[in-house]
Amino acid sequence: MSLRKYSLGYTFKTDAIIVTVNQRYSLDEASSILWRLILSACNILDISDREIAGSLMYTQEIPGGSYDFVIYDTTPGGSGHVRRFKDGNTMLRIFNGAYEIAKNCDCGGDEGDTSCYNCLRTYSNQKIHDNLKRRYVIEKLGAMSAGTNDIPQRMKPLKITVKGNTSIGNESWKSIFKVLSVSLRQQQKLESAITDEMPKPDCETSDFVCDDRDGYADLVWEDKKVMAFASDNIDSYKAAAGSRYECFLFDENVDIEKFVRVLK
Ligand SMILES: [Zn+2]
Repeated sequence: MSLRKYSLGYTFKTDAIIVTVNQRYSLDEASSILWRLILSACNILDISDREIAGSLMYTQEIPGGSYDFVIYDTTPGGSGHVRRFKDGNTMLRIFNGAYEIAKNCDCGGDEGDTSCYNCLRTYSNQKIHDNLKRRYVIEKLGAMSAGTNDIPQRMKPLKITVKGNTSIGNESWKSIFKVLSVSLRQQQKLESAITDEMPKPDCETSDFVCDDRDGYADLVWEDKKVMAFASDNIDSYKAAAGSRYECFLFDENVDIEKFVRVLK
């Protein structure tokens, strides 16, 4: 096996989701919507607003520029809250909830040119309280739900670039699985699940860059878009999770049946 690559510096050790929307937003509009979405998500997922957080990512994909929303678990390693967003229904409830609360609050009267602790403000966003206005949420999310139906589904996977560098060649399955440092029990389970249809990985120890985070996958199946990681390679696993690759971390909880199913 070649030298393993470790990245120094700050790593974003958590799960994140990027929500893209097809409208132009100013910074204040985007901040107001982001906060309302976070609070709505906390409400619907029944978690505290310390468990998830968000930030804005400037995008030029919308003429004139706009902002995508990044929402992430604050627990190191991720606690799985944000993953639940991937379900379109949950997302729809979060968006609708965000709109309803903003619309039904009474701060700032009919114009809603302000915000309060019942709609957008929290202790964590106190530095921008004056920029948050429920009117922005009503206008922008209202326009969305009145118009097309495409709001919540437009979540895109993290961008990933894989550099497959060590090809597997004719190695036996046994030696391939050694790369993953699986337990004897897992090894037996894997070996009994292998069939002729199961393609061997294209490469091992492949470096990748996923949304500015780099890492390496222990095994990569390019066509199947599958990556496998040894349990001590969890940082890379976290970096690639959320990309268009299906990622498996071979710790004691790995779902071997699913892994085999995906590869067949
Ligand atoms: Zn209010």
